[in-house]
Amino acid sequence: MSNPLVLIVGRPNVGKSTLFNRLTKSSTAIVDDVSGVTRDRIYGEVEWNGKYFRVIDTGGYVPDSDDLFETAIREQIEIGLNECDAILFVVDGRIGLTPIDKEIGYILRRSSKPSYLLVNKSDTPEFEINKSDFYKLGFNNIYDVSALNGRNLGNLLDDVINSLTFSDEENFNDKRLHLAIVGKPNVGKSSLVNSLLGYDRSIVTDIPGTTRDSIDSILKYYGEEIVLVDTAGLRKKSKIKENIEFFSNVRTYRAIWNSDVSILLLDAELGINNQDQKVLQEIVRRRKGLIIAVNKWDLIEKDTNTAKKYEDAIKAEVATVDFAPIIFISALTKQRIYKLIELAKKINEERHKKIPTNELNEILLPEIVKTPPPATPTGKEVKIKYITQVGEHYPIFLFFANEYKYIPESYKRFLERLIRKNFGFEGVPITLSFREK
Ligand code: GDP
Ligand code: GDP
Repeated sequence: MSNPLVLIVGRPNVGKSTLFNRLTKSSTAIVDDVSGVTRDRIYGEVEWNGKYFRVIDTGGYVPDSDDLFETAIREQIEIGLNECDAILFVVDGRIGLTPIDKEIGYILRRSSKPSYLLVNKSDTPEFEINKSDFYKLGFNNIYDVSALNGRNLGNLLDDVINSLTFSDEENFNDKRLHLAIVGKPNVGKSSLVNSLLGYDRSIVTDIPGTTRDSIDSILKYYGEEIVLVDTAGLRKKSKIKENIEFFSNVRTYRAIWNSDVSILLLDAELGINNQDQKVLQEIVRRRKGLIIAVNKWDLIEKDTNTAKKYEDAIKAEVATVDFAPIIFISALTKQRIYKLIELAKKINEERHKKIPTNELNEILLPEIVKTPPPATPTGKEVKIKYITQVGEHYPIFLFFANEYKYIPESYKRFLERLIRKNFGFEGVPITLSFREK
């Protein structure tokens, strides 16, 4: 569940995004067959020797202004260091050591996190000439690599994997419901957590001299412990817009990754925007349970139709994520906040629900026969013969069919709707997988 997080840092044009693409390309960890989900450019998953870690390319967060640039990059690395488990520091082997490289190197060396110096663009051994210069940075772990052709990346990954701690098992054994409350700044996340807990948890940690690292809170709910995964505010105050965004995104994504169910919190007066859509996509991509909660409902003037209209408007905007329940709450007046918890519990159960194979086939196959998938381009019939549910942590439906590669996206949506109509799975992303029979 909570895979280690590795940050890619370095000045522009050294090859960070090339590296990111190469590292994440071969990953089989994510089956992107949920319709409407696109890959994120900045967050990815790396698989190496059966182990997984997450990687973030910081290159996407760079201020336009030149005078802010150095401050921004320095600060970004400082706050990033707090959040991640290891750092890949990329430099350009063809250009050689620059003042910003020295600066970044200095910050990294003072930190206790393992960091790796990647002398990139060393496409062949001849390009290693500049390497000696980089030894001045004082790193033990220096790798001359080529993000472009993959040279030496295997050696690097071996070492990175060895230095990381993998806690999958431990986390999977924690059966408590892990709930993430995510959303844009000021939508009311802390207020909601405080209302649920019955006290202001920020006071507890506001002891002078202490810093707020990530802290999970435990909500005791009728004798059951529910873990509210932390998405706490900035540890270090920043004035740089890109860094605030970067940091809050890292927190958000981590919280989603560590959750069973994620609640996307919206401000009733502002509705849903592009940033929310990205967060939604990430929740779906990670196959987490999902609720859209519209907060500050107390501020909206209502007549009998307001909630319905609002709900329809959101449904229209989120299109493919129409399986997410929408609930209207107020962290301030506590309206429906326990209903929200009930809903999260229900969705978590749905996420672990198993439909017996005979039931699946008896109910779905006749419907599929009635509305079969379109024929292949050469006119061959595509037949779905058998369906079974697999997946330990979230529902995956395996469809055995001939020529399944020709089953169009629209038909997969039809199958998904069919499953939902007959078996529910409210708030749960459904994975459809196809095999040759
Ligand atoms: P970023 O700004 O740090 O993300 O850098 P990019 O990944 O966008 O790369 C900047 C330029 O360097 C692009 O033209 C890449 O094709 C090139 N580049 C990246 N890695 C390598 C490499 O290993 N070898 C060579 N020859 N070029 C590279
Ligand atoms: P966060 O940044 O998402 O954690 O948002 P906060 O919890 O700090 O809330 C931002 C502002 O919205 C604060 O001024 C809150 O008092 C206010 N707020 C939060 N929830 C509600 C609500 O349900 N109703 C109203 N009227 N205000 C709220």
